[in-house]
Amino acid sequence: MKYSLVTGGSRGLGRAICIKLASMGIPVIINYQSNQAAAEEVRDIILASGGQASLMKFDVSKQEEVTSALNSWEKEHPDDYIAYLVNNAGIRRDNVMFMMPDNDWHSVIDITVNGFFYVTRALLPKMMSRKHGGRIVNMTSLSGLKGMAGQTNYSAAKAAIIGATKSLAQEAAARNVTVNAVAPGFIETDMTRDLPQDELKQLVPMKRFGKPEEVAELVGFLCSDSASYITGEVISINGGLY
Ligand code: NAP
Repeated sequence: MKYSLVTGGSRGLGRAICIKLASMGIPVIINYQSNQAAAEEVRDIILASGGQASLMKFDVSKQEEVTSALNSWEKEHPDDYIAYLVNNAGIRRDNVMFMMPDNDWHSVIDITVNGFFYVTRALLPKMMSRKHGGRIVNMTSLSGLKGMAGQTNYSAAKAAIIGATKSLAQEAAARNVTVNAVAPGFIETDMTRDLPQDELKQLVPMKRFGKPEEVAELVGFLCSDSASYITGEVISINGGLY
């Protein structure tokens, strides 16, 4: 059986993506770091609607945690593999660069870039050895495309993900594994709750923030058979804000 793993699946975009993938009939593994209640809620919503879901706790930036969780899962599922990976876990620690503490630089890079590396590398051998096709979707951001004042750490991390997406797409294409990135603008989640929303909405041509479900539709499409020839792309979803 082919499973999906969504990192940071307990809240925000990850939550909506888990629900979307489950509605497509794909069993979902919901990764979270600390918010077990939120992760359980996502699992229960999926189970209640007839889907399959389970939880997997690890911090994407801690290699031992990633390896140990994925190894245990593989031992328990000898005939299954994770064919769909959504690298979605991420944090924001905004500050102008001259005042940015070391930890805010490193934590954003660790979770976004190293987290992507640890999880993806662990799953690639199985994905690439079965010629059934695999799907990797990496969550980047408008900030990684155009930069944003106060986000040098976040922009650097998200731009790194774009570069890695394009390189890995070329490595994995012959094995029928597609690798794409999704670049949202402002989406209504916990991550954007503290921003001056009324002010920022005026910058968006559509005059509103996006909804997690709108991003989940795009991720669902990229994971579907309809997207089998799309790889190495960065697809923006931003209400017209570039
Ligand atoms: P969010 O509401 O803050 O949720 C973040 C999720 O990531 C939570 O599920 C959280 O788990 C998980 N997480 C955080 N650190 C983790 C770690 N070290 N290991 C594993 N999981 C971790 O964020 P969001 O708005 O949904 O953002 C999701 C992704 O989209 C991020 O990569 C973000 O950069 C990107 N993005 C968001 C926007 C936006 O406007 N919201 C725009 C562009 C890009 P817990 O629940 O356990 O804390």
